[in-house]
Amino acid sequence: MKIGILAVQGAFAEHKAKLEKLGAQCIELRKREDLDGGFDGLVLPGGESTVQGKLLRELDMFQPMKEKIEVGMPVLATCAGLILLADHLSNDEHVYFGTMPVTVKRNAYGRQLGSFHTIQEMKGMGEVPMTFIRAPYIEKCEEGAEVLAEVEGNIVAVKYKEQYGLAFHPELDEDDTIHSAFLESVKKYKVLK
Ligand code: GLN
Repeated sequence: MKIGILAVQGAFAEHKAKLEKLGAQCIELRKREDLDGGFDGLVLPGGESTVQGKLLRELDMFQPMKEKIEVGMPVLATCAGLILLADHLSNDEHVYFGTMPVTVKRNAYGRQLGSFHTIQEMKGMGEVPMTFIRAPYIEKCEEGAEVLAEVEGNIVAVKYKEQYGLAFHPELDEDDTIHSAFLESVKKYKVLK
């Protein structure tokens, strides 16, 4: 099983370490040609969504990556990655991939209070630790988007088709639950493909 990890900016190394520990092979996606490397799942890491969006376009990676998501490739998107997937941002005029029918608010906890840690139930997965860093949250889900977790009444995790959108950073905690669930989706996709 091969996972492509967007590695133009942000916290990609931690995802790679965790996925490799779980037995997946990983390739870092830094340029257009890396997208031809035959991977079965995609990770969009945290970082700065505006910078990532700009680099994806400049590097000519935007359209081919969007097409892979649109045909059903499983995606694990964390924080800035969730912002890239959302089809609406409530406080920003940009839309990036727009492949997930959710409205996301950037820096939703404010810039100062933006970082905190909690443990919450994820639907079907039990309790998982959640680290938030200048995090967005999901204000609204449209049809087909399933809420996986809420923290204090705000939606922080959603699944749409095989796309996981998380406001927090599961790669920064010891727990492997979410990455394992993602790899299960990838396994399923690989069989169906
Ligand atoms: N605040 C960042 C953004 O809007 C996201 C923060 C993160 O990925 N940790 O892109």
